[in-house]
Amino acid sequence: GTLTKPWRMTSLNELLDRIVHKNPLGADAMARGIENDEFFLHLQPKVALPGGRITGFEALVRWEHPQLGLQSPVNFIPLAEQTGVIEPLTRWVLGRAADTLADWKREGVETRIAVNVSARNLMSLTVADEFAQIVKARGLECSSFILELTETAAVTNLVDALDILVRLRLKDFALSIDDFGTGYSSLAQLQRLPFSELKIDRSFVSVSATSTEAANTIRATVELARRLQLDLVAEGVETETVERTLIDLGVPHAQGYRYGRPEPAEVWGPRLRQRVE
Ligand code: C2E
Ligand code: CA
Ligand code: CA
Ligand code: CA
Repeated sequence: GTLTKPWRMTSLNELLDRIVHKNPLGADAMARGIENDEFFLHLQPKVALPGGRITGFEALVRWEHPQLGLQSPVNFIPLAEQTGVIEPLTRWVLGRAADTLADWKREGVETRIAVNVSARNLMSLTVADEFAQIVKARGLECSSFILELTETAAVTNLVDALDILVRLRLKDFALSIDDFGTGYSSLAQLQRLPFSELKIDRSFVSVSATSTEAANTIRATVELARRLQLDLVAEGVETETVERTLIDLGVPHAQGYRYGRPEPAEVWGPRLRQRVE
């Protein structure tokens, strides 16, 4: 066997191994969690302005950890990305979102669900086929799904990512740039990407009523979206004051606690059915 000296220092590899494999929030725990149904989705509505009519939902993943309790995605998505567990996790999220849309379709409710996709998901050439298969298996169209990617995810390693984005687009998935304004994408890069939606980051939205700078950034983004014929969503709208500012600035869609918190599909289903009945 291996000689273990008590005074030996922990090697970097060992440390990584501990973080990735023995960590209760690590890769192995996540992989087991997917198998054991420990993850679940909350859906948050996206609405039209003015008026607040629901136009779709965003799927936000949560983890009910057997020992540590409810975990926010900010606590586990980064390690899922580093370790590659994000690949099965994203497939699981898309599958659950598709299950929900299939249920709702049977009840006469037609809507769209947005799923968050990481840069790591764009490193696999087969991802477009995999995603399409997940959707088709539930008898749905890819056009019922929006894939939300951060600017950084879309423009890092641009050549390969662009190829994969085009493949996803050819399947008819809608593509959205998440947290817009926080990255460094240039207008030239944006024009080359096959996106149909921009989501203005909450950091601009929440101060839009009080900061001229933020309001100006949003005004410029409204103009940009118009020119590139992109849908525009303001995220993190909490107050009526912010809503009014956004309407004045010409922002056509919004998302935030003002219109609905992220909640399970079971909460939204009856409310949507009421609308179609
Ligand atoms: P995001 O994609 O920017 O999602 C918006 C976050 O803001 C969500 O946090 C949402 O609950 C929160 N939020 C929505 N409206 C409001 C509001 O009015 N005020 C405030 N203060 N917050 C609001 P959540 O669910 O904790 O998710 C955090 C991040 O984790 C997401 O940011 C996204 O980047 C990531 N994430 C969540 N689910 C997934 C997933 O399935 N896959 C991947 N790759 N990332 C995910
Ligand atoms: Ca998002
Ligand atoms: Ca966002
Ligand atoms: Ca954000």
